[in-house]
Amino acid sequence: MTGERRHAGSRRDRLSDVEFRRLVDELKSRVPVSSVVGRAVKLRKAGHDLVGLCPFHQERSPSFTVNDAKEFYHCFGCGAHGDIIRFVMDREGCGFREAYQRLASDDLPTWTPSERAKAQAEAQLEDLEKEKDARRFYAEAQPIAGTPGEIYFRARAITIAPPPCVRFGMVPSWRNKETGEWGRKRPAVICGAQDGTGAIVGIQRIFFKNDDPRLGKKDCKLSLGTIKGSALQLAHGERTIILAEGPEDGLSIMQEGPGLPVWVPFGTSMMPAVDYPASVRRVIIAGQNNTAGRIAANKAAIALAERGLEVSFVWPDRRYDDWNDQLRGVSAHG
Ligand SMILES: [Zn+2]
Repeated sequence: MTGERRHAGSRRDRLSDVEFRRLVDELKSRVPVSSVVGRAVKLRKAGHDLVGLCPFHQERSPSFTVNDAKEFYHCFGCGAHGDIIRFVMDREGCGFREAYQRLASDDLPTWTPSERAKAQAEAQLEDLEKEKDARRFYAEAQPIAGTPGEIYFRARAITIAPPPCVRFGMVPSWRNKETGEWGRKRPAVICGAQDGTGAIVGIQRIFFKNDDPRLGKKDCKLSLGTIKGSALQLAHGERTIILAEGPEDGLSIMQEGPGLPVWVPFGTSMMPAVDYPASVRRVIIAGQNNTAGRIAANKAAIALAERGLEVSFVWPDRRYDDWNDQLRGVSAHG
């Protein structure tokens, strides 16, 4: 009898969780992110985005963006990212349910379902536009052999010929959001990101250090198009795929182990979202030997396991930070 009652009770709790989720989703669809963020941050329009000074780190020029259509904010400076609930939690140091209660009882500016639908349709169109640009830059690029791209990889002791999805081209690094005007074209390694069907849906551009004062003294990686769900598919695998953190790591692994099926999602956080072929049962995360890398890899592993994939790890030798350091024999620890 007692057991039965307890069972009934736990089911009620689960239902209320589902109901609570529904309320949260409903609130998120009714209150644009800019309504909540706009009270703490002065936002101005830049193309389809809103931008302002990040409330989570000190800065003089705005790198904090708000995307109402996609219901998130993102800071390119410190990586702060989330929805309205996360914003209130982080700003006011409260829990999830409390953040919801505060927002739900607040008199915030809302938008109508049709205003929201219109914004989402526009955002979708903009995404397709970016995919088209990415495809165009990829198509205009050329094979790596004999280009500055080859020098870039050789400087990292990568001497194997990269597969055709790694190219060299002249591409702009930025686009004016207000006027739509592209910046000047600059030399870059161009990595093609493919979706589940093999179509190019995005690119990662690796600009070379000291080439562009705007980009600074470090090599700079910028993506364009649809990065979520896609990956740089360096070599195919039937049942198993090795996931590397970046193109240099991926190519280093292939040089040490010719024929290995290596894919590179653009960022560890993107690993779980990748559209893996149905035949793939197992993914091996080729991680990096630093604390941030280990945490990110573990997080990705949990999400990948939830997708029903068998997950394991492989790490560079302890003396090296990443796979390219290992290839070059450059120890991070002296
Ligand atoms: Zn920030």
